[in-house]
Amino acid sequence: MKECIKINEDTWRIEDEGVRFYLLCGNEKAALIDTGMKCADAKQIAQKLTNLPLILINTHADPDHISGNNAFNDFYMSPDEEGNYRSYNGQGKILPICEGDIIDLGDRELMIIDIPGHTPGSIGIIDKKNRVFISGDSVQDGKIFMFGPGRDLNQYIKSLKHLEQYENMFDDVYPMHGTFPVNKDLIPKLIQAAQSILDGKAMEYASPVNIFGNDVTLYKFDYAGFLCN
Ligand SMILES: [Zn+2]
Repeated sequence: MKECIKINEDTWRIEDEGVRFYLLCGNEKAALIDTGMKCADAKQIAQKLTNLPLILINTHADPDHISGNNAFNDFYMSPDEEGNYRSYNGQGKILPICEGDIIDLGDRELMIIDIPGHTPGSIGIIDKKNRVFISGDSVQDGKIFMFGPGRDLNQYIKSLKHLEQYENMFDDVYPMHGTFPVNKDLIPKLIQAAQSILDGKAMEYASPVNIFGNDVTLYKFDYAGFLCN
């Protein structure tokens, strides 16, 4: 059951059974940020909410974020994410975006920040006017998937440290899973937690779990979890 919830006059979140994506409207264009997990009609949902020309930006290409991509001929995504996207048979033309790029929706500038680690081409988006950071899966209080091909916990830590350089540009974080919104205070906690896992100092938080047939370790901290090999 999908639910469209208005955040403010120009912003919606669409809740899609444990996954969330966003619709941001400017004066001239609207942007979908991801297309959910079981949401082939994400484009139609957006077009019921706005008459503006619609673009799509993907935070990354895990299958719970791209279910409605095929309705778009082209969309913005990090070129480093193409392998992940095509591995799920993702169609369409990738319009490459990277660190520092600005996508202007008309008096609403979206700035791209590269935050690889969760996936090779994960990006985050600073909605400058609203002082919000849209984090994909990288900053959230649910379970952050860090097992399997392409995940890199070391790189993830570097990316969140990089993100901290921009923290004066936003207050709230809008994640794709878990609580909406989360405070940016979560970022240093995630860095510390990930580092403790790498250092082998997080065993007291560890338990074995099976996720989609994979035997992995869940590190469950008070504020978030990490699923690792
Ligand atoms: Zn996800």
